[in-house]
Amino acid sequence: MSRSAATIQSTAGVSITGLHKSYGSNEVLKGIDLAVAPGEVVCLVGPSGSGKSTLLRCINLLETPNAGTIEVGGHAATDPDVDVDKMRRSVGMVFQQFNLFPHLSVLKNCTVSQMQVLKRSRSEAEAIARKHLRSVGLAELETRFPGELSGGQQQRVAIARSLSMDPTLMLFDEPTSALDPETVGDVLAIMRRLAQEGMTMVVVTHEMGFAREVADRVVFMDGGVVVEQGPAEEVIGNPQQPRTQDFLRRVL
Ligand code: ADP
Ligand code: MG
Repeated sequence: MSRSAATIQSTAGVSITGLHKSYGSNEVLKGIDLAVAPGEVVCLVGPSGSGKSTLLRCINLLETPNAGTIEVGGHAATDPDVDVDKMRRSVGMVFQQFNLFPHLSVLKNCTVSQMQVLKRSRSEAEAIARKHLRSVGLAELETRFPGELSGGQQQRVAIARSLSMDPTLMLFDEPTSALDPETVGDVLAIMRRLAQEGMTMVVVTHEMGFAREVADRVVFMDGGVVVEQGPAEEVIGNPQQPRTQDFLRRVL
């Protein structure tokens, strides 16, 4: 898709080779190779339990792989000497369940990490937070608390909070799966705009319409391996592998 508005200053690519991850004797990722170019939008699809969330959690170093390498922006995340905190900071993650701080206002949700982690002053953090809250259409709700917002509004706050940390890569784990149908579109519209602005994005989603329209590439995972990948119109429109065909028959 076309790229416009240069509001994203720089974006990072991701390069994953031979990634293995086990929980005890349960091997969840069985050798994943995946490269995401800077500015590319990859939608990750596949049945429940196929390892999608585990893969995202490995990319932002919430999980330690058992084998394989992960590079973000050319820096090896799996290098023992890497500055893990710095790498984590550069990767934004948006979860199905929002994970906002329930006791903090919308504005404070978007400033606390900027101040604690990036050491920004309150006034600078608030200015940056307000810019992103405006961009997700929530400027007027900055004094509210998460429990006073709809699911879609909470997810938009979560996106603004992530963007306030200047990520070079955004990971989304089923960001609309917990939303009422009428608020899904607002969240997808924000993600679509972020993609147009050139953000590198890996999006786990069951929204096949979004994947078709926004993804540069669709990756289908099953049983801890990448089964099939390619342009959305090929993987969704004309899947080659029986497992992909079977999955799409069930979700479409
Ligand atoms: P998906 O996101 O595709 O549904 P997950 O990555 O969440 O898949 O899970 C893949 C497998 O890993 C599942 O069998 C799940 O039970 C297991 N798993 C995920 N996280 C953990 C964990 N923290 N501890 C143990 N097993 C886990
Ligand atoms: Mg998952």
